[in-house]
Amino acid sequence: MAETPKNSIRPFSLPHSASRPVVTPLSPSVVYASTSPSMLDQQYEGELQGYTYAREGHPNADVLAQHIDALEGVEGGLVVGSGMAAITALFMGLLSHGDHVIAGDQLYGRSLRLLREDLPRFGIEVSFCDTSSAENVAASLKNNTKIVLVEAVSNPTLRVADVKGVGDLLSDRDTLFAIDNTFTTPAALKCAEAKADIIIHSVTKLLAGHSDVTLGYIWAAEASVSKAIYDFSVTAGLTPSPFDCWLAERGILSFPLRFERAQENAEKVATFLAAHPEVERVLYPTRRDHPDHNKALSLIGQNGCNMVSFELREKTRAAADRFTENAENLAFAPTLGDIGTTLSHPASSSHRALSAEHRRELGISEGFFRLSVGVESSDTLIEALGGALSALRP
Ligand code: PLP
Repeated sequence: MAETPKNSIRPFSLPHSASRPVVTPLSPSVVYASTSPSMLDQQYEGELQGYTYAREGHPNADVLAQHIDALEGVEGGLVVGSGMAAITALFMGLLSHGDHVIAGDQLYGRSLRLLREDLPRFGIEVSFCDTSSAENVAASLKNNTKIVLVEAVSNPTLRVADVKGVGDLLSDRDTLFAIDNTFTTPAALKCAEAKADIIIHSVTKLLAGHSDVTLGYIWAAEASVSKAIYDFSVTAGLTPSPFDCWLAERGILSFPLRFERAQENAEKVATFLAAHPEVERVLYPTRRDHPDHNKALSLIGQNGCNMVSFELREKTRAAADRFTENAENLAFAPTLGDIGTTLSHPASSSHRALSAEHRRELGISEGFFRLSVGVESSDTLIEALGGALSALRP
């Protein structure tokens, strides 16, 4: 056995191996040792590939980013500590006092809050519009508009953005087109093909898929934009933990299979709910009765994805309570994209901060629910929903 060298607390390097591990090794090291100041210079100047300090980047984040890049068909994305970290990096990394942003009026609640409450504190002007028509975006454009942010399919009403129209509108302008592809995922929409300059994901959701990590992803087409986002992320410490990235990599390997199965289940669940007498309406993008059905077909084809929203006939809190209390084996939890089905009630969770009137405008009543459909057997799922709905019978 080799003797432990004196004066060194960590004397060993990884043993040499001609074979390689099949699973990406977890690399929790916060610092990476280089051999000399000159080598460090070369690393910082990008002449030599190498890690230095984990807040600036680490192998597990980079491997995970490569998986998401491959799904989106792009290169050079960055993994950060949450979907909101990605959205924060987008705005704070790229905007200055006096700039203007246009955002969809039905974005994820915290994105809306950042836009409404925080950006104006830094002198950034924000306009909201219904992005289901590019004409609304065109009407909001100003000379100082730097970014337009849309979610391809909105939460929880599943409105479909006019992604093609907005992409065409912005293609000959300096304004950056950012798509948050969390709901639709790269399985249904490849954002770069849809002319996005920036792609965002909450990796926490379907990509990681097991509700055990909080992570985000951001990619920019242009190198200078990408660098500004990266620099801000490192400065603000938006870097993810290696362990979370490692877990998410395990999750993402099964993403295509999970997505396919969850989407099949979602279609069946939507059909079941639409025929049920206790359900007033069902929102699912590939259904003919969806308000944006044609736009959905041209944007995501037959990929309705895994989210189904619906409204009970009885739109009271009492009925909502009875429904969830009787929804056996369905986790009532305000998240989406888990391997199992989760049920959420936007009026008491994601959209609780809105006034009742604002919720009414969006079509979110006390009887409005959103299902994030998972991979369990569709029969079990339909049985669970049927049981909960039968508890509503007068
Ligand atoms: N974008 C969308 C569309 C989301 O639904 C969410 C969270 O639900 C986020 C961004 C924020 O992601 P995270 O929770 O990972 O910060």
